[in-house]
Amino acid sequence: MVVLKFGGTSVADRAAISRLVDIVSGTSDRPVVVVSALGGATDRLLGLAAQAGAGDADGARESVRHLHERHIDVAGVISDPAMRLDVERFLSRQFDELARVVGALSVLQDTSPRWLDTIAAVGELCSSHIVTAVLSSHGVPATWVDARQVMVTSDAYTAAAPLMDDTEARLTADVAPIVGAGKVPVIGGFVGATAAGITTTLGRGGSDYSAAIVGACLNATEIQIWTDVDGMLTADPRIITSAQLVPALSFTEASELAYFGAKVLHPSTILPAVAKNIPVRILNSHNAKATGTLITASRATTGQPLTAVASKRNVTVVDIASTRMLMAHGFLHRLFGVFEKHSTSVDVVTTSEVSVSLTVDDVRRLPAIVQELSEFADVTREDQLAVVCAVGEGIAGDATFVSRLLRAMGPVPIRMLSQAAGRRNITVVLPDKELPAALARIHEAFFL
Ligand code: ASP
Ligand code: MG
Repeated sequence: MVVLKFGGTSVADRAAISRLVDIVSGTSDRPVVVVSALGGATDRLLGLAAQAGAGDADGARESVRHLHERHIDVAGVISDPAMRLDVERFLSRQFDELARVVGALSVLQDTSPRWLDTIAAVGELCSSHIVTAVLSSHGVPATWVDARQVMVTSDAYTAAAPLMDDTEARLTADVAPIVGAGKVPVIGGFVGATAAGITTTLGRGGSDYSAAIVGACLNATEIQIWTDVDGMLTADPRIITSAQLVPALSFTEASELAYFGAKVLHPSTILPAVAKNIPVRILNSHNAKATGTLITASRATTGQPLTAVASKRNVTVVDIASTRMLMAHGFLHRLFGVFEKHSTSVDVVTTSEVSVSLTVDDVRRLPAIVQELSEFADVTREDQLAVVCAVGEGIAGDATFVSRLLRAMGPVPIRMLSQAAGRRNITVVLPDKELPAALARIHEAFFL
């Protein structure tokens, strides 16, 4: 059994849904389908919830009407008239109900998380219904599964945690028999419900998480994430036009790359699959012939030390030096406590005997942070820097890698350099204006 997850761009319009049908029909190993909302629909739903919360009842109702029309238009791809009528009725019920909820919330000017989830869930409930009917009308025996019946979660609305034991029990009872009967279950991602049946969502981008949970609970042999790019690339294609597809990644490599901006998929969302050793494959629904990127818990290393180079522009370095209590125990704790207090995450950290340097990319709270740090340390800040992160399982086995990397980069001023004990990545901080050239030289030296 394979789980096929289609993201928003892979169900965005009639053409995308037709490609989905081809992909599902061409899957020989019993597919389970998980779908996102139509591309952009979740943003629209949360937008109209905000309109309602601001008391703009007319605006919110108008947005509901637009979104309803878009769904009816996309449902036009269902060739069988009876099936299409059925879906149109389902859409009408969903959107009429949505209009009522939105009307009430406009009066109350309420946008509590619980209602945001009820509203956002409409996207996946509708897209999964449309996809079920399209598949059926093309002779694929699809069966709609209400995600609220199988994905059991906590009541942490807008970021609900799946309750794995309950979810596994429901999926085994309700979804496994559908697959066993030779049919194709279609489930809306992102959506769940509490044990009491109140609608929840797993958080933005949650459909990948749903797919991983479904795959893990049903012991799938593979989870396929169908998106609109060929997979993970060796470098940011906006900077390196010759970036190549990375065919295979370990979970750790994928995490390092995602951290520095390769935003194809957030690795934490596939943890349930990785924990069960189920391979996750990223594939392009616009280019189904491409082989994609395979992410596995671990992977055999090849002769190549480097797997990919991630980068992040416009970061700020903060240098913190204390003459008084530097490296005295408790210093780092106190220092990071200041960042914690201001909910600001720190990316790269290096320390020396006299200073600690770190990078942040969200600088909104930095003035307050600097002020507080200044109570016990000398603090300087430098903007317009960039992070380059060379990632590869093969780095650990290549003793001369760092020196070769630095040589490849050429004479660039380096502000920070870090290599963690795991030696799967080397991180370099340099002036942002030097990034494109340095990245191009690294790419040329190691990939071309
Ligand atoms: N539709 C949801 C979102 O846009 C979930 C997903 O697509 O993964 O965040
Ligand atoms: Mg997505």
